[in-house]
Amino acid sequence: MKKTASTTAETTTVACPQCGSTVVWASASRWKPFCSERCKLLDLGAWANESYRVAGAEVADASEIENALAALPSGAPRPH
Ligand SMILES: [Zn+2]
Repeated sequence: MKKTASTTAETTTVACPQCGSTVVWASASRWKPFCSERCKLLDLGAWANESYRVAGAEVADASEIENALAALPSGAPRPH
C-alpha cells in the first residue's frame, strides 16, 4: 500500500533572492521571499547603500518633507 503525503504535495518553494536557498512559500515563512532574516537584511542593506550612493540630496529632501508636514495646519480648524 502506498501512502500519500498530502501535506507536502502542494508546497510552493521559491529561491532566496539573496543566497539562492530553497524557501518554502508559506505563511509561516516569515522572511519570504528570503530564507532568513539575515538574507532579508542583507538585501535591504544593499538597497540602502545603493540609494545613498545615488542620491545624497535625498536626505535633505526627507527633512524638508518633515518641515513641510510640521508647517501644515493640523487637521480641521480648531474651534475656541
Ligand atoms: Zn537566503
